[in-house]
Amino acid sequence: RIIAPTPASPNEEAIERALRPKQLDEYVGQAKIHSQLEIFIAAARNRREALDHTLLFGPPGLGKTTLAHIIAREMGVNLRQTSGPVLERAGDLAALLTNLEPNDVLFIDEIHRLSPVVEEILYPALEDYQIDIMIGEGPAARSVRLDLQPFTLVGATTRAGMLTNPLRDRFGIVARLEFYTPQELARIVTRSAHLLNAAIVDEGALEIAKRSRGTPRIANRLLRRVRDYAEVKGNGEITKAMADAALKMLDVDPVGFDIMDRKLLEAVLFKFNGGPVGLDNLAAAIGEERDTIEDVLEPYLIQQGYLQRTPRGRIATPTAYAHFGVTAPKTGAV
Ligand code: ADP
Repeated sequence: RIIAPTPASPNEEAIERALRPKQLDEYVGQAKIHSQLEIFIAAARNRREALDHTLLFGPPGLGKTTLAHIIAREMGVNLRQTSGPVLERAGDLAALLTNLEPNDVLFIDEIHRLSPVVEEILYPALEDYQIDIMIGEGPAARSVRLDLQPFTLVGATTRAGMLTNPLRDRFGIVARLEFYTPQELARIVTRSAHLLNAAIVDEGALEIAKRSRGTPRIANRLLRRVRDYAEVKGNGEITKAMADAALKMLDVDPVGFDIMDRKLLEAVLFKFNGGPVGLDNLAAAIGEERDTIEDVLEPYLIQQGYLQRTPRGRIATPTAYAHFGVTAPKTGAV
């Protein structure tokens, strides 16, 4: 997969951790979330209470995990991290919850993938800081109620629509992360370059930023590849020309689409005559999973106006035709 939605290797994960901003004032962009959290965190701290449960949603790589860590740090509490698919049994969650210290943050990534039994346990925990657990088996089994310390659940998901209503209703703060502007990404790239001791000029950072699909994780990854290129082919300085040459080599086109983006758009345009095409047909045509198309590929193409989602399926826009240098037919396209 070209655009890995998650870190590709333990080494990449370590680099990602190193590049992760630790405080709210280092966190670039997301102005609305930034100012809201600043207030809610200050208020909770003053009252010495746990921050309200917080749901973060948006495509992979936009900074949900980073924000969860920042919340814990700004609140001055510990963060415990897990993910929906990892919590298989009710006991797994109970063990985590009973070990929390007052006002700690429990971060559950991919929270839409919690099993129903685990979700059941979570409801009273979120509402009353209590859990009911079953002890023993068969006729001797009985339910025991345990009190928990007050805590904050920070849940992350790619699509808020995938959460059950009762779960979604229990979050007091719901924040939708947006794609970053090229200017914001350029600031992130410049900061990361400094942390990696790489020489970079503003135009170089902006070139990488423009071609990173609005996504900090991709910007940081492209920066590292461009750095390699600049070290081997040049004197190490990341200029606009170096960035452009390196990104060309990586098959990242001038607007930041990679092979998978182009494959998807080409399928809609040429195999399905501009659409509408259903998700399953599209998935089969390009050999990608439905979820990857919906979570990773599509959001940026839609946000940039290349693709539209309609009740009858996906439709290519005139912008998409223009990108491939063909004129949109009178019918078929929007
Ligand atoms: P998500 O959890 O949404 O998939 P992450 O929080 O893991 O995304 O972010 C991916 C990488 O992008 C992090 O390593 C971090 O360095 C960088 N990043 C994300 N958001 C920001 C931001 N607002 N400012 C600076 N860097 C960011």
